Amino acid sequence: MMKPLFIVIEGIDGSGKSTFTKNLRELLITFNRTTVCFAEPTSYDSGIYIRRFLKGEVMLSKKEQIDAFLVDRENSVQKNILPNLKQNIDVILDRYYYSTCAYQASDEFDAKSILNLNLKKNFPSPDILFFLDISPEQALERTKTRNSEKEIFDSIEKQKQIYSEFKKILPGSTNFLDASLSQDSIIDEAKKILIKFL
Ligand code: ADP
Repeated sequence: MMKPLFIVIEGIDGSGKSTFTKNLRELLITFNRTTVCFAEPTSYDSGIYIRRFLKGEVMLSKKEQIDAFLVDRENSVQKNILPNLKQNIDVILDRYYYSTCAYQASDEFDAKSILNLNLKKNFPSPDILFFLDISPEQALERTKTRNSEKEIFDSIEKQKQIYSEFKKILPGSTNFLDASLSQDSIIDEAKKILIKFL
């Protein structure tokens, strides 16, 4: 029996994560793998609460934000990720704890300390971590054409800060993909990495 893969996709808003997640699933299907996609925040109540905060409907302190993500991640791990891996189904996850580190980093809690809080929870670590690497300017340009509601982290200054926080905490094993390329080229690069694990 093949080992199921836990694949995490990280990147700033507009880097192409949700598009890549779908394309990666298609790719895995061509390798006869059964694959399921999830995102964080989840669609459980804990994730809906976070989305309300992201839309500016709920105010949360930095500590409350970090705690809300930890609670939602517990649901993500226990209800989405682990049950599928146990059934030998690959899991592709759009955003994980590296996003919490990058987005919630502040003078009060730096990215590294947020990472440590997550690691202490013993959440499963990804088998493959992809970072869709693109400049904040180009990513923001892409989201402008997207028809979605504005979120509190949408400004270019904030996106630049988030990008630099990601670069501080992503582990050495991260697979950086040039997300300024076409989705076809990105998938070609991902395929070269993926086949080493199949
Ligand atoms: P994210 O999930 O990271 O916020 P999306 O997958 O929603 O990003 O992509 C943001 C926008 O950019 C969408 O309109 C999408 O169709 C487009 N897009 C995604 N990947 C690419 C790419 N490689 N080249 C050009 N446009 C892209």
